[in-house]
Amino acid sequence: MTTRTRFAPSPTGYLHVGGARTALFSWLHARKHGGEFILRIEDTDLERSTAESVNAILEGMAWLGLEYDEGPFFQTHRFDRYGKVIQQLLEEGKAYHCYCSKERLDALRAEQMARKEKPRYDGRCRHWGAEPPPGVKPVVRFKNPIDGAVVVEDMIHGRVVFQNSELDDLIIARSDGSPTYNFTVVVDDMDMRVTHVIRGDDHLNNTPRQINMLAALGASPPVYAHVPMILGHDGSRLSKRHGAVSVMQYREDGYLPEALLNYLVRLGWSSGDKEIFSVEEMIELFDVNDVHRSAAAFNPDKLLWLNQHYIKSSRLEHIAHHLSWHLGRLGVDPATGPDLCSVVRVQQERSKTLAEMAANSVFFYRDFEIYDEKAAAKHLKSDNLPALEGLHRALTGLVEWTPATIHGVVHGVAEEHALSLGKLAQPLRVIVTGREISPPIDQTLALLGQDKTLERLERGLRYLRDHA
Ligand code: GLU
Repeated sequence: MTTRTRFAPSPTGYLHVGGARTALFSWLHARKHGGEFILRIEDTDLERSTAESVNAILEGMAWLGLEYDEGPFFQTHRFDRYGKVIQQLLEEGKAYHCYCSKERLDALRAEQMARKEKPRYDGRCRHWGAEPPPGVKPVVRFKNPIDGAVVVEDMIHGRVVFQNSELDDLIIARSDGSPTYNFTVVVDDMDMRVTHVIRGDDHLNNTPRQINMLAALGASPPVYAHVPMILGHDGSRLSKRHGAVSVMQYREDGYLPEALLNYLVRLGWSSGDKEIFSVEEMIELFDVNDVHRSAAAFNPDKLLWLNQHYIKSSRLEHIAHHLSWHLGRLGVDPATGPDLCSVVRVQQERSKTLAEMAANSVFFYRDFEIYDEKAAAKHLKSDNLPALEGLHRALTGLVEWTPATIHGVVHGVAEEHALSLGKLAQPLRVIVTGREISPPIDQTLALLGQDKTLERLERGLRYLRDHA
């Protein structure tokens, strides 16, 4: 049987790292077994689902490279199908109409709580023989088995046993006829022939109910794997309070998708003491059975470390592709300056994120308005004027514009004016980049080009004269 997994987010917010990890585990499981991965959007909660959130999920999946073989399927497009299955269960006597009023259910609940019992529906309408009360629109409840137990052989949690006596008759359709969450999941997992359900362990308690409904429909249940949640550094459930939790926020903050994937795969799973996993290695080594049972804590420093690793070691073209997006956000058109791969080459050792790399590379493409205030105060002093004028002359005459020839000129001029290299390179750096930090000055000028360098030097000289 072909392995089929699915990721089934509810579109009520952005794609967060917890969801992305669940998606990654499902995707890896499908890829590892030569199977199929389905994307299903669980949008039946009409009040909380938004098109914006659907887009954010699709965008996040695309950016992470978690491509799906089928879908996205939308549950809101499947209401006819759910209606038919509800009808079928009613006709087969596996579900029934419930006319109990809210008042009765509230009172029942209060009584049970007072007796320190778990609140649950008492099944009155399951056994109702009389005429339905007039004018009441009923809900539909599933007839859960009364005896016996449901055994879940979870790939992560092991054997979990639920007594049917603990489960009451779940509402599967509201009084307006709309299907409820646990029911739509069951119909979909059945219709979509899902063989492995990998999802957050907040759904573990839904599983016995879903297995009972699948059995009532004559479907064999999938294998379940409930993934523990992600915690913040303080041990509470990871949330916005702990920093960025949205996948697309990580993109904006300058992370590479492979760094995030590598980080997420190691969150609650390991393979020896290996830390760096290419996607191919993940597919080869990942095994849901090895996911840890306990919750994992999110460590932003480790994610940053991985990001730096991938920035240093990925192909130039790959980083250039992502860098181009970041430059675009800063309003920079990469066509207006040096080849992006060359910029990546000089920046990759010194950048922790692509956002930082982009911010530090804008000067290659766009003239800056003003010098960084502190850098200017420290380095743009009139006593540097003669050496910088000498440098301008020498660079103007330079025929071959390469890091080596530039290096020779800067060296020569510094020597001529009895300055250390740094004493000349720093003011020069501020003049051409606007700031105190950049890649080595010879490489910086080489990439910037002779015309731009001379133009900025002239502007720097004017500034020095004006401020002398
Ligand atoms: N829609 C559910 C959620 O976003 C997932 C349900 C499932 O995977 O079965 O939590």
